[in-house]
Amino acid sequence: MSNSGEIWVIGEQRRGRLEEVSLELLSKGTALSQRMGVTLSSVLLGDEVEEIARELVFHGAEKVYLLEDARLRYYQSEAYARLLSEVIKEHEPQIILIGATEIGMELAPKVAAKLRTGLTAHCIDLYVGEVDDTPHLIHVVPGWGGNLVMHIICPQRRPQVVTVKPGVLPKAVRDENKKGKIIRVKPDVRDEDFRWIETVEVVEEPPQGKSLESADVVVCGGWGMNALGDFSRVQELADILGGVVAGTRPAMDKGWVEEAWMIGQSGKTVSPGLFVSLGASGAMHYTTGFMGSKVVLAVDHNPQAPIFHVADVGIVGDLREVLPCLIAELKKDRMPRKF
Ligand SMILES: Cc1cc2nc3c(=O)[nH]c(=O)nc-3n(C[C@H](O)[C@H](O)[C@H](O)COP(=O)(O)OP(=O)(O)OC[C@H]3O[C@@H](n4cnc5c(N)ncnc54)[C@H](O)[C@@H]3O)c2cc1C
Repeated sequence: MSNSGEIWVIGEQRRGRLEEVSLELLSKGTALSQRMGVTLSSVLLGDEVEEIARELVFHGAEKVYLLEDARLRYYQSEAYARLLSEVIKEHEPQIILIGATEIGMELAPKVAAKLRTGLTAHCIDLYVGEVDDTPHLIHVVPGWGGNLVMHIICPQRRPQVVTVKPGVLPKAVRDENKKGKIIRVKPDVRDEDFRWIETVEVVEEPPQGKSLESADVVVCGGWGMNALGDFSRVQELADILGGVVAGTRPAMDKGWVEEAWMIGQSGKTVSPGLFVSLGASGAMHYTTGFMGSKVVLAVDHNPQAPIFHVADVGIVGDLREVLPCLIAELKKDRMPRKF
């Protein structure tokens, strides 16, 4: 780590809308740039997105490198990766922060490979710490089945590329008085960038029911629901509470929920008023997905399950007994509930 070389946040826009994760990265980028005494910049690719570039400035970017071209309107796998790595090579930032979205998860390894540098994926935090008396950027990632938190450094290669899960960091505060430079870079878009793959249209899937991210109550089932054979009781509890059903990775693998309803590091991050966890052991890969919830209620028959370290209210018991009781009691209770 040095005090030369900027920190770059890759601004992600979709159809002319800035993804929230870019604002989250700018808040962390601001803290890191102040700590390291370096410039925080952003880079943005798209078509007619200058307004978004200004938003990046209002949220903390001191400079925005703007690459605009009609053919960059949508995310284009090859073109974005090549152009981004070229502009990085030219300006030599020392840290690249990318959101671990579907786009970021594809873009980051391509860029890192083109730059022959290290990538730490799915970070939940970043900070500057000392290793052998030398300051380093520490990349925090859950590892080894989610029961350990790894603190990773990239000592030899630059820039270091990091992806961060959307929803785990606070958003930067918008301030229209913030000043920053928008630097136009003429992108050299080539036909060969579209040889193998080209996005020609983006069709958004219509939302099915209440969205997971906006739900006040999320009821999430884990592998322990196997004891009941299916997810019908999870749905029943969610219906009574006016909530939305979600699942852990094994619940998704089992086919009880679709991937879009999986909670955790490689799934969705939620912060409802009430998060109910049923028969999930509490691996960190899972718990990072709901750490911002106001109240967490967990049911598991293993009193040692790590889920009880993060739960505000815990019920140790067999789901086959606890769930029918809980549902019956809640059905009786006619008090209005607000979460
Ligand atoms: C890179 C990586 C990313 C990952 N990303 C995610 C992710 O995004 N989301 C995710 O969920 N996982 C993720 N995982 C997997 C994660 O590490 C765990 O393996 C997973 O969360 C465990 O799911 P679970 O709690 O449902 O199952 P288990 O760990 O098997 O837990 C089942 C629980 O049910 C309890 N139980 C069993 N029977 C009963 C009963 N009758 N009554 C009450 N309790 C009972 C058990 O005591 C146990 O605690 C990831 C793993 C890796 C390596």
